[in-house]
Amino acid sequence: MKVKESRKPGRAGKLVYFFGSGKADGDAGMKNLLGGKGANLAEMASLGLPVPPGFTITTEVCTHFYANGRRYPAALKEQVAAALSGVEKILSLGFGDPKNPLLLSVRSGARSSMPGMMETVLNVGLTSATIPGMIAKTGSARFVYDAYRRLIMMYADVVMEKAAGLEPAEGQGVRMQLEHLMEDLKKGHGYTSDTQLTAEELEDLCDRFKAKVREVIGTEFPDDARAQLWGGIGAVFQSWNGKRAISYRKIEGIPDNWGTAVTVQAMVFGNMGDDCATGVAFTRNPGTGENAFYGEWLVNAQGEDVVAGIRTPNALNEHATNDQNRNLPTLEKTMPGLYMELVGYRNKLEKHYRDMQDLEFTIQSGRLFMLQTRVGKRNGPAALRMAVEMVRERLIDKATAVSRVRPGQLDELLHPMIDPVHERDFKPIAKGLPAGPGGATGRIVLTADRAAEWGKAGEKVVLVRQETSPEDVHGMHASEAILTAKGGMTSHAALVARGWGKCCIVGAGAVHINLTQRTVDIGGTVLREGDVITLNGSKGLIYAGALPLVVSDLEQNRDLKDFLHWCDGIRALGVRTNADTPADAAQARRFGAAGIGLCRTEHMFFGEERIRAMREMILSENLLEREQAIFNLLPFQKEDFKGILSAMAGLPVTIRLLDPPLHEFVPHEERLVRELAVGMGKNLEAVKARIEKLQELNPMLGHRGCRLGITYPEITRMQATAILEATAELLGDKVDARPEIMIPLVGTVQELTDQKAIVLAVAAEVKKKYGIRKLPFTVGTMIEVPRAAITADEIAAEAEFFSFGTNDLTQMCCGFSRDDAGSFLPSYVEKKIYADDPFISLDTAGVGKLMQIAVQLGRGTRPGLKMGICGEHGGDPASIRFCHDLGLDYVSCSPFRVPIARLAAAQAELANPRGAVRKPKAGAKKKAVPKKRR
Ligand code: ADP
Ligand code: MG
Ligand code: MG
Repeated sequence: MKVKESRKPGRAGKLVYFFGSGKADGDAGMKNLLGGKGANLAEMASLGLPVPPGFTITTEVCTHFYANGRRYPAALKEQVAAALSGVEKILSLGFGDPKNPLLLSVRSGARSSMPGMMETVLNVGLTSATIPGMIAKTGSARFVYDAYRRLIMMYADVVMEKAAGLEPAEGQGVRMQLEHLMEDLKKGHGYTSDTQLTAEELEDLCDRFKAKVREVIGTEFPDDARAQLWGGIGAVFQSWNGKRAISYRKIEGIPDNWGTAVTVQAMVFGNMGDDCATGVAFTRNPGTGENAFYGEWLVNAQGEDVVAGIRTPNALNEHATNDQNRNLPTLEKTMPGLYMELVGYRNKLEKHYRDMQDLEFTIQSGRLFMLQTRVGKRNGPAALRMAVEMVRERLIDKATAVSRVRPGQLDELLHPMIDPVHERDFKPIAKGLPAGPGGATGRIVLTADRAAEWGKAGEKVVLVRQETSPEDVHGMHASEAILTAKGGMTSHAALVARGWGKCCIVGAGAVHINLTQRTVDIGGTVLREGDVITLNGSKGLIYAGALPLVVSDLEQNRDLKDFLHWCDGIRALGVRTNADTPADAAQARRFGAAGIGLCRTEHMFFGEERIRAMREMILSENLLEREQAIFNLLPFQKEDFKGILSAMAGLPVTIRLLDPPLHEFVPHEERLVRELAVGMGKNLEAVKARIEKLQELNPMLGHRGCRLGITYPEITRMQATAILEATAELLGDKVDARPEIMIPLVGTVQELTDQKAIVLAVAAEVKKKYGIRKLPFTVGTMIEVPRAAITADEIAAEAEFFSFGTNDLTQMCCGFSRDDAGSFLPSYVEKKIYADDPFISLDTAGVGKLMQIAVQLGRGTRPGLKMGICGEHGGDPASIRFCHDLGLDYVSCSPFRVPIARLAAAQAELANPRGAVRKPKAGAKKKAVPKKRR
C-alpha cells in the first residue's frame, strides 16, 4: 500500500477529526488540514498501531481564528466536546473526573514539520480535584507530582507567558525561573538527576512553582481541567505567530497563511517508574543514511526529556551506541520484547510510507505506544544514500529517488571537509558526537544573536552553546557550524543542523562556556569569543585554529554516480559549464558537463607577455601598429583554445569574443603608468592622455562587447583566427573540436552581421591556409541587451544560436548595475519589492518575460534554434526550472554546480514533463522524452 499524496479537502463544517482504537476520520493525505502530526497519527491509528486516542482541530480553525479577531468558529465547542467524550469512552476515563481522571496532551502540528518551533503542553487535566484520584489509581504520588510540576512549567511558559504576549528580558522568562527553583532544590539535596527527587519534595516544589508563577505573571495557575484544555488550545494557535515560528518560516520559506492544527490526545506516561520509558527513533540512520534502526531513549522520563538534552540518552541498540552512551544499557538489552515490537512498527511504517520515518514512542508500565511518525529530516549524504538504496531495495522507483534529494543537499556533498592530509598533523582539543558531517572553520560566538550579527557582517562563525533551543535558530542559520556541550544525536541542535546540512558536533562534554567572561574552555584550552576553531563534523573532532578545508572527491562516490545517471535519464535540459581553462573544463567534464556554454577569453589576456601585447594594442596610435600588437597575441590565444577544445573534444565549446571595456587592461596608478610608458618607449603624457580617454562614466553601458570588435575589427579578426586555426590544427590531429563563436552584447542585427562577416572571411582564409574544405563551427550571439530580446526575430536570421547572458540582461532590464545595487537591493528583498535577489534567482516576471519573447521570436524565424543560458542563474535550481519550462536546450553553470544542475533539471522534468507525448507521472518506468544532451 502506498500513502496517497492527494490533498483531500475536509468535509464542510467539520472542524474536529477523531482517531483511536483502530479507526480515524482522517489519514496521511490530509496534512494541509490536520497538520503533519495529526494526519500521521490518524494514519497510524488506522494501520492498527497502538496510538493513544485523541482528535485534531483543523488548520482551518487556525485561519478562522486569525481572520476573526482570535475567536473560534461557533461549532468548535460542541465538536470538541463530542470528540472528547469519544476518547473518554474508549479509555473508560473522564476528563476532570476525580476518581478516574483522563489527562491530555495538547500538541501543535503544521503541514510541514517545524521541530520545536511551536508549543505542546502535557499532562493537561491535573488539578487539586484530580490529583488524589491519580495518586490512588497509580499508587505513585511521586509520579503524579512529577507530572504536575511539568504541567505547571509548560503551561506557565506556553499559555500564560508566550501566548499572552509577555516578553520577559533574556533569562527572566518564567520557565527559566522555575528551572532555577528545581536546580536549587536538587543542589540542596546533592542530587544529580531529576529522578532522585522524592514525592514529598516534588509536591512541595509544585507549591513553590505555583507561588512563583503568581509572582512572575501575576495570575493564578488555573485549577480547572477545562480551563487548562482551552488555554492550551488557544496557546497552540497563538504559537503559530510566535517569534520563533515566524523566523523559522522565513528561513524555510513556509507561507504564513498555512496555520497550525491542534491535536489533543490522551496521555501515556513514560515517567511512572523503571518499566517506563520514552524515546525518539529513525527508521534509518539520519546522519549517514545507513539502513539501520537508529534512536535514543530514556528510562522513567517524559516527552521532551530526550530531545532537551537534560540527561544523556541511552542508545536504542548496538548501532546507535557512541562515546557518550556506551556505558548505558540499550533498549534492545533492557526491554527486548518491547524492542522487537518497536522494530516491527519500524518495518511496517517504512514499508507503508516508503521513506525514512522519524518516530516518537513511549513505554508505560511495559506497554508500547506510538506518539508520532513523520518523514525524517536527513542531511545531504544521508538523503543520497537512502534514495539510492531504496531503489536497490525496490522500495521506490528512480523518479521518486530523484525527487527525494534536494539540489541543496547535493551541494552538501560537494562541500568542504578538513583536508585529511593535514588533519593528521593536528591534535584535536576535544571530541563530541558527530551530528552533522563535513568540515567547517570559523570564529567562536557564544550567543545566537551575536552569531546572526557577525554572520550578517560576512564573518564565518561557529556557534558554541551549552545546548541549543528553538530560540537560537536565527544564529544557528548564520553559522558555519554548531558545537554544543550537551545533548545527544537527536537533540535540537543535531536535528536542526541535519535539516540544513550544517557541520555540527553535539554533546562535547569537555566544552565549558563562561558567558560572563565570554570565554570557552575546550578540553583545557581556553579560547575567547572571536578566536578561530575548526570542526570535523564527520568524526566529532574539535581543533583550535583554522585547518585547511578541501572539497570531497566525487569520483569515489558510486551512489552519487548512479544517482546522477538516473537524473540524466530523466532530464530534457542539457547541462554545460562555464569554464575558461582546460583544467576547469576537464573538471566540469568529470562532473558531467556536456560542453562549455561560456568560455570567456579576456582572462587569456592577463599573463605577463600577453598583457604587454594587449596594452601595446590599446596604446597604438594607428591601425598598423594596432594590428601588429594584437596579432602578437595570436599564438597565445591559439594555444589556449587548443587546450580547451581538446579538453572538451566531441562536445561543443561556446567561446565569447572579447567583452570587457579596454580600461580594465591598463594600469591606473601613476607609478605603474610611468613604468608602462618607459617600458614601451612612449611619451608619458601621451600614455596618460590615452588612458584618460578610456575612462568612462558608465563602463557597464560603455565601449565594450561587440562594440569593441566593431570599432577595432582587428580584435575580432585575431580572435577568430586563433579559434579557427586551433580547430583546423586539432582536426588535423584527429581531435573532434567543436567551437561555437559567440558575439557579446549585440543589440541590433546589424552588429551581428558586421561581426559575423569578419568571422566568415577568416574562416575562408583558414580553410585555404590548411587546405581543408570543411570547418565545423557556428556563429551565434548572446542575448543580454533588452533590444536584442525584443528583436530576436531579426537577430535569429543571422544567429545560429542564442545564449542568454542573464547577468547583463538583468542589469539592463531592471535598470540597476550589479556593482551598485548593494546599497538598496537588500532593502528591496527585505521589503519583498523583489522576492529574491534577481542576480541570484532569475526575475522571471521581468527578465524571464524578455527571455520568453526572445525564445518565441527566435524560434519563429529559425525553428530549432539552439538556446541556452550562461549567466550565474544557470546554476540556480529555481532558475533552472524556469529555463526548462521555457524550452531552452541547456543551462551552463560553474563546474561545481554541474551535478546540482543535472538534478534540478531532472526534477524540473518530473514536475513539468516536456514534449508532445504526455509523459506518465513520476514513478512510471517508461521514458517518452528522448534524451537530449547538449
Ligand atoms: P514537537 O512537535 O515539538 O515534537 P510534540 O507534540 O510531538 O511536540 O510533543 C512533545 C513531546 O511530548 C514529545 O516527546 C511527545 O512524544 C510527547 N507527547 C506528546 N503527546 C503525548 C501523549 N499523549 N502522551 C505522552 N507523551 C506525549
Ligand atoms: Mg514531536
Ligand atoms: Mg554580458
